[in-house]
Amino acid sequence: MATQCSKCDSKAVYLRRYTSEALCDSCLAETTLQRVRRTINKHKMFRENDRIAVAISGGKDSSVLLHILHRIEKKYPDSEIIPITIDEGIMGYRDRALEAAKKLTRSLDLTLEVRSFRELFGHSLDDIVKMRKSDKPIGACSFCGVLRRRAINSTASELEADVVATGHNMDDEAQTLLINMLRGDSRRIVRTSRPREKALRGFVPRVKPIMEITERDVVAYSHSQALEYHDVPCPYSVEAYRNDVKDFLNDMEHRRPGTLLAILRSGEEIGKAFEQTPVATELRECEQCGSVTPDRICKVCSMLSDISGN
Ligand code: SF4
Ligand SMILES: [Zn+2]
Ligand SMILES: [Zn+2]
Repeated sequence: MATQCSKCDSKAVYLRRYTSEALCDSCLAETTLQRVRRTINKHKMFRENDRIAVAISGGKDSSVLLHILHRIEKKYPDSEIIPITIDEGIMGYRDRALEAAKKLTRSLDLTLEVRSFRELFGHSLDDIVKMRKSDKPIGACSFCGVLRRRAINSTASELEADVVATGHNMDDEAQTLLINMLRGDSRRIVRTSRPREKALRGFVPRVKPIMEITERDVVAYSHSQALEYHDVPCPYSVEAYRNDVKDFLNDMEHRRPGTLLAILRSGEEIGKAFEQTPVATELRECEQCGSVTPDRICKVCSMLSDISGN
C-alpha cells in the first residue's frame, strides 16, 4: 500500500529520513522552502532591501538555491536577486554548465552576470593548469578555489551587492567541518561559519541559505520542480580526501539519520565558542593588487606569480 504524505492526503513520494516525514511532491517543495526560510531567519542572512548576488554554477545545488530564493524574495519587492556565474574556463565542463545556468535564469526572468577567469586574471583555468611549474605544481582545485572566491567577491562588489548567497548544502558543510577537524585546522571552522555581520572588511558577506537541507533533499526538490541542471563531474575533480569523508558520512547518515544535522549544529557551537576568544588578524592591503589580506602579498597574487614565474 502506498504511504500517505505526513502533511496531506496525497501519496508520499519522498521520505525525509532525518525528520521522519513522508512527503508528496507539493509538500516536499513547501517544506524545503520553509526549512530554507527558517535558516535565513535564524542566521539573519538577508535584509528587506538587499541586493543579493546568487553564485550559480549550473549544477543542482545552486540551481535549487536560486529557484528557492526567487520564490522567497518575491515577497520582498525592495530586494533584488542578481545571479552571477564565474566561468573558470574548463573546456567541455563549465561551458555546458553555463548553458544550464543561462536557461534557468531566463526561465525565472533574471539576468545572469557572467565573469571569466580570463577577463579577471588574464588566463583560463585550462591555461593555468598548463602553465604551472612542473617541479611542485599547485593542484587545479587549489587555483580554482582561490581564484573563484576572489572572482565572486569582486563581481559582487562591482555589482554593488550587499550579500552573496552560495549553494552549499548540509552534506557539503558537514564534510568541510569534519575535514577541518581531521586535519587539525580548527581555525577554519570559524571562517566557514562566520555570520553575516562578522564579515571581514573588504569582503562582501557570504551566506549559505540551503545549508540545512541535505543533498538528497536538493535532488528531490529539483525533481519535484523539473529543474534541469548540469550533472557531469569536473575533469579536474580528484578530491580523494573529501570523497572518503563523504562516503563515511553517507553511511552514517543512512544508518543514523540526523548525523549530518548534528555535525552542522556542532560546527555552529564551536564557531560561537571561538567567537568568545577572538584572535585578532591584522589585515592590510596586498602590495601588488591592493586586496585585503593578512599577508604582504595576497594568495591570488602569489598563485599567479607561480605561473608567470615572477
Ligand atoms: S573540481 Fe576543482 S577545478 Fe573543477 S570546478 Fe571544482 S574546484 Fe574547480
Ligand atoms: Zn502532501
Ligand atoms: Zn594581491
